[in-house]
Amino acid sequence: MKRIKIKELLASPEIESDVLVKGWVRTKRGNKNIAFIALNDGSTINNIQVVADTAKFDENLLKDITTGSCLSVSGKLIESQGQGQNIEIHAESIELYGKSDAETYPLQKKGHSMEFLREIAHLRPRTNTFGAVFRIRHAIAFAIHKYFNDKGFFYLHTPIITGSNAEGAGELFHVTTMDLANIPHNKDGSVDFNNDFFGKPANLTVSGQLEGELGALALSDIYTFGPTFRAENSNTPRHLAEFWMVEPEMAFYDNNDNMDLAEDFVKYLIRYALENCKDDLDFLNSIIDKGLLERLNFVLGNEFIRMTYTDAIKILIDSGKKWEYPISWGKDLQAEHERYLVEEHFKKPVILTDYPKDIKAFYMKQNDDGKTVRAMDVLFPGIGEIIGGSQREENYDALLSRIKELNLPEKDLWWYLETRKFGTAPHSGFGLGFERMIIFITGIPNIRDVIPFPRTPKNAEF
Ligand code: ATP
Ligand code: MN
Repeated sequence: MKRIKIKELLASPEIESDVLVKGWVRTKRGNKNIAFIALNDGSTINNIQVVADTAKFDENLLKDITTGSCLSVSGKLIESQGQGQNIEIHAESIELYGKSDAETYPLQKKGHSMEFLREIAHLRPRTNTFGAVFRIRHAIAFAIHKYFNDKGFFYLHTPIITGSNAEGAGELFHVTTMDLANIPHNKDGSVDFNNDFFGKPANLTVSGQLEGELGALALSDIYTFGPTFRAENSNTPRHLAEFWMVEPEMAFYDNNDNMDLAEDFVKYLIRYALENCKDDLDFLNSIIDKGLLERLNFVLGNEFIRMTYTDAIKILIDSGKKWEYPISWGKDLQAEHERYLVEEHFKKPVILTDYPKDIKAFYMKQNDDGKTVRAMDVLFPGIGEIIGGSQREENYDALLSRIKELNLPEKDLWWYLETRKFGTAPHSGFGLGFERMIIFITGIPNIRDVIPFPRTPKNAEF
């Protein structure tokens, strides 16, 4: 007999048919005559109830079926008399694949803190909450590819290891094969990379954007979706050292087209989750965050506010609020400012544009005022910045003078500059932090709990 996944079984049950299911025991209860086993195989948040007549099975086998153990069960599918389920399996044979010591299995019935579960990241996918989160994470990853594929964008694989250190976003993780106890130095004291693997300094990418631009200036519309790495020592609920970023880059888009795409894209992802992850979202709405579904629908039903950084600064100053980080024109917004705008002032997602050039990256398109650049950040309730993007500077002279002004390594950027020499074009793009989107869609408050194995300062376990 072929195994059937529990999701499929519950979706289209054929009463009286013989079925084979496999999974992990969530609970077992019962009495001398009968045992009720709730089995889950991760295909859905819902369990299937297995009913075992104790007379039919070896007493020791039944004793070994405890929470966490793994079973293969065949039997007849029956309409259930009991409450809480419509169908159940009347077991005819049970094979115990793996016992689970009841004394030491850490996932007992209820009430584990998220902090504790982080310490058992090897087992936490077996909880309802993490099962739901990881299924939703998968669905959204799939939806990202679907969205862009349907729009004629090409998935471009930008490198994970790069030799360019120009972005200035966060701190870098170095990549080397040098013996750390014995690093060769040049006469002037600097590190001699000549004999290192790449013959020059290399690092893990902080963003695929620069290479993504090269793709857009040939294929028109591309996106990257891959891991990015930042050694920033920010111990916040919104920062990881290893996170996934989605970065579309589009030729012939100005910053307004860019914002239109960003808004349409995040709404598509939210709608996709509502339509395809109903059971998991209902569960999270009841257990994690009672306002979740309402918030998702609210964002879907409202246009995002669009305003300039300069106007936003006025609102923040006029609010008369006491900020932990005092705000004035020229300063970068902190999460407290972003969240005030979104959660208290507008009560809607906000897209801020035209930031001061000094707090944004060198590649952003310079405005005529000489002070601001055509940046756009999308700010979300509960999160703050979820997307950062801009129109890119496509003018060779303007780009080169900005690179010089900032003392960036012009030599290392020769390839980037050449695209402005040979058939340059207006273009734009943005980066969506994938985990921040998953935080928003699941209502899980901490970014460490929406990625299977989080990497944060002092933590690379598992
Ligand atoms: P923040 O100010 O929140 O640190 P950033 O300005 O450094 O963000 P960008 O460099 O614009 O962010 O990156 C694009 C997107 O990537 C951000 O909007 C955010 O969603 C996500 N992101 C940035 N840094 C992290 C991180 N350390 N962990 C998870 N997601 C991140
Ligand atoms: Mn940052």
